[in-house]
Amino acid sequence: APLSADAFDALAWAKMDGLLPAIVQDGASGRVLMLGYMDRAALAATLETRRVTFFSRSRQRLWTKGESSGNLLNLVAVHEDCDGDALLVIADPVGPTCHEGTASCFGGSEPAGPAWLAELSAIVAARAGLADETSYTRKLLARGPERIAQKIGEEGVEIALAAVTRDNRGIAEETADLLYHLAVLFEAKGMRWEEVVAILRERHAERSSATASS
Ligand code: AMP
Ligand code: ZN
Ligand code: ZN
Ligand code: ZN
Repeated sequence: APLSADAFDALAWAKMDGLLPAIVQDGASGRVLMLGYMDRAALAATLETRRVTFFSRSRQRLWTKGESSGNLLNLVAVHEDCDGDALLVIADPVGPTCHEGTASCFGGSEPAGPAWLAELSAIVAARAGLADETSYTRKLLARGPERIAQKIGEEGVEIALAAVTRDNRGIAEETADLLYHLAVLFEAKGMRWEEVVAILRERHAERSSATASS
């Protein structure tokens, strides 16, 4: 559950000798980024500064992740677990979280499911910032929303055709084309996948409340 002000003192500090494990998760991709430990001061600093701060056991002091590298973790939310002895910290990372230069300390843990679309969007955003025009993404963005819209229309039709003429691999390939072009559209519009998921969730909530009340 999300942490409330009252919940702070109710956490299992005594049982854990004042130090709770804090799993950091990327809010956009759901990827586990790192594990750290928080004492009361670290959690208080995290909530106050909105920058994820741990208690460093090796240095025996408060440690704001990114304080020297600049690779900060901007706080989105803190959740406590069912019995208050562990924390889940949702964050928006600035740069790679691992000091070895990778996005996550848990190498090879990229999501296999739709959460990977967040990684795709990060790649598209990086291409958008390239100065040269050798990138297809860059060219597409430079040609403007009409060209992207046209590609989306084409890929939609290709999925429909694949659904009746091709095998599952073929359908997956056309779906990949559509999702990529949607990622480019979102980049052009400054949109996030979260906006789409929020609408899906709203609709689900409407439907389930309609079912509950009927
Ligand atoms: P930073 O907090 O990114 O400025 O890094 C400061 C120091 O903390 C690094 O030199 C590492 O020793 C350590 N460090 C940074 N990131 C991590 C991490 N994700 N896991 C463990 N240690 C880290
Ligand atoms: Zn627990
Ligand atoms: Zn690491
Ligand atoms: Zn296609």
